[in-house]
Amino acid sequence: MLLSQLKLLINTFRAVRIFSGIQPTGRKHLGNYIGAISQYVESQERGEGIFCIVDLHAISVAYDPAELRERLYDTTAILIGAGLDPERCILFRQSDVREHSELCWLLSAVTAHGDLNRMHQFKDKSQKQRELVSAALFFYPVLQAADVLAYRGEEVPIGEDQRQHIELMREIARRFNERFGEGTLVEPEHRIPAVGARIMDLQDPTTKMSTTSGSEQGTVHVLDEPSAIQKKVKSAVTDSGSGVHRGEGKEGIANLIDVLAAVRGSTPDVVESEFEGSGYGDFKGAVAEAVVDYLTPTRERYEELRPDEPELERILAQGAEKAREIAAGTLADVRKMMGVGPLDIRR
Ligand code: ATP
Ligand code: MG
Repeated sequence: MLLSQLKLLINTFRAVRIFSGIQPTGRKHLGNYIGAISQYVESQERGEGIFCIVDLHAISVAYDPAELRERLYDTTAILIGAGLDPERCILFRQSDVREHSELCWLLSAVTAHGDLNRMHQFKDKSQKQRELVSAALFFYPVLQAADVLAYRGEEVPIGEDQRQHIELMREIARRFNERFGEGTLVEPEHRIPAVGARIMDLQDPTTKMSTTSGSEQGTVHVLDEPSAIQKKVKSAVTDSGSGVHRGEGKEGIANLIDVLAAVRGSTPDVVESEFEGSGYGDFKGAVAEAVVDYLTPTRERYEELRPDEPELERILAQGAEKAREIAAGTLADVRKMMGVGPLDIRR
């Protein structure tokens, strides 16, 4: 058998390595749940999942140190509540694995300044900063590249807004391999959901629902009580026309169609035919009910898990230990190829 065929055969049986990160800033919302968290949970069935709560990314915008720690526990409990099983995947806190920061710096040597300048997220977020626009905000995609490349992640489940960052990450891996040694780093593929990849703010359907910006009324949080969800969905901004379908000037209705399709595991076409001839009131009522049903089990499990911070710490520490083992191997290779440090540092 040819070597290439043998490799193909081995790959067929080897679990795909899936990596993604989520910020512990603010409060996680329906967009995060549909675009990212639900994909994380599903991916445990398909491969080796590695999920990271990225506190080092969170410090790139204005934040409160004590609150960051609280939100980190919130996010951990939400992820486990949603169905991540720390025995079946690796769940950890980014700052516990120092290899991420080191690799970020090493990769900055093969990252083009001009590429970072083109990033939409930097442009959007830097405009929203009232005080300091930090260098960390500019460097964010390099750290994100380090997060994934440290694990030689093959697949990255994310929302649509992160597409450009994954492209850059691939470019960084490519440039590293060309310069220092083919096959050292893996170029990851994004996995963006077909429906619900970009859930919009309910009060402003031209901007994405966001953890750090956006309106309270326009953001459905994972931990919102059913009455709050009902109120937010029912007061979602729509158009003055009628007809539950997508189209010019109907961004608000299109967003709710996407939300309903995503939480039902259906498609926008099916939702449109079901609600043909219905008024906006009835439609919003159905969306609100479906979202409440969708988020309630996670919120209830969160309430049970969140008070036990020592247990959450134990889970994160266990995850970090497993993560460190993988990342340290990649770092040793990268340092060696780059001529950084003594030659015998390789394990
Ligand atoms: P911020 O807006 O401050 O960057 P965020 O809401 O994007 O915060 P992150 O922790 O940066 O939260 O993102 C976690 C994951 O959720 C990412 O994969 C991101 O692509 C996805 N995501 C974020 N917002 C949405 C959205 N509105 N719709 C679908 N997916 C989203
Ligand atoms: Mg984001």
